[in-house]
Amino acid sequence: MTLNRREFAQLGALSLAAGFMRALPAQTPPAAAPRKTGYAVIGLGRIAAHFMPGAVNSTNSAITGLVSGHRDKAEKIAAQYGVPLASIYSYDNFDEIAHNPAIDAVYVALPNSMHAEFTIRAAKAGKHVLCEKPMATTVADSEAMIAACKAANVKLMIAYRCHFEPVHLRSIQLIHSGQLGQVQAISSCFGYNIAPGEWRLNKKLAGGGPLYDVGIYSLNACRYLTGEEPAALEAYASTIDHDSRFSEVEENTAWTMRFPSGIVASCATTYGANMSGYFKVYGSKGWLAIDPAFNYEGVHLHGELSGQALDELSPSHDPYQFQAEAEHFSHCVENNLEPQCPGEEGLRDMKYIAEIYRSAGIPVPWRMEPVSVVSGPPRTS
Ligand code: NAD
Repeated sequence: MTLNRREFAQLGALSLAAGFMRALPAQTPPAAAPRKTGYAVIGLGRIAAHFMPGAVNSTNSAITGLVSGHRDKAEKIAAQYGVPLASIYSYDNFDEIAHNPAIDAVYVALPNSMHAEFTIRAAKAGKHVLCEKPMATTVADSEAMIAACKAANVKLMIAYRCHFEPVHLRSIQLIHSGQLGQVQAISSCFGYNIAPGEWRLNKKLAGGGPLYDVGIYSLNACRYLTGEEPAALEAYASTIDHDSRFSEVEENTAWTMRFPSGIVASCATTYGANMSGYFKVYGSKGWLAIDPAFNYEGVHLHGELSGQALDELSPSHDPYQFQAEAEHFSHCVENNLEPQCPGEEGLRDMKYIAEIYRSAGIPVPWRMEPVSVVSGPPRTS
């Protein structure tokens, strides 16, 4: 099925609308509203400010707890979302959420190296976990997070919001249905010129440089676009600006991957230049690009398929990606289903990140155990 831009926008709007409408039987008194999945948000920074409105826009999610080191900030946000003051926790008394029945799940939006501790503590408190990307800073921590959630019988999902972005789903459909022909090559970049003083420049908190932060979008996209796992990869890293920003983490990383089918991918990420996130996929019957690809809105698909121009602007606006993510995870919690991006999906990216670091000659990050995920036939096939 080929849709033009207007039809696609209509379809997007219809499917969004359909997904958010509750089917109530006509002429019967409205039943009590179904209980929503209540989230405690841990870390009230920039990304949490997108997630919270997204969650409350969904049909099945609510903000019912806040966890912060700043009580005054938490009280202001609590007033905004109707969270009782008794449901505000500090990082120290966080474990008391175990006794709060209004909290079903947590949303972990802390610096990367803190994801493991709070995921494991949440699991021990019997709460489901939606954790921001990157899953953690080490493979060992990622495995411990999965094990803790399994032991506590709670769900774990990594918040890869692009898995819910309509035009990403559309490009996956175009590729997997063969409309692009045989995919041969992918290129993808994402980076920005980072300001000094960010926790992202602290290796213990961040794990490493831009690969952990934004390069992971290109890595994850290459995997869902191909539907394959890399068979081999090779990487380079560099730091050009010897200013105070890069005393702990590298400034640039570039890597190539070969997938089992022979598809080759080339990716780069930086903290030294503003690089609008994009990907381009080249197939025997045409090409497609999403540029910008990883923004919260304005995501734009274009290309050419068998001589026909492709030009589709995503119908979604911020915070739709977060709304869809919350809707999906809450649905999984309510119905005991496996989420779209479980911990194992985050773990795979962590293993590839470890391999990229190893190939680039950067000592594997703190507490990262060596793993070997690169296998398969020799590099030239
Ligand atoms: P941020 O700096 O804006 O917020 C981090 C929060 O953690 C703040 O509320 C801060 O007070 C708290 N915090 C607790 N201990 C801290 C410490 N020792 N140092 C610094 N902050 C501390 O960061 P952010 O941009 O919201 O990123 C948080 C997480 O979300 C990261 O893992 C990041 O990779 C991820 N993220 C995801 C997306 C996405 O689109 N999915 C976008 C941005 C960030």
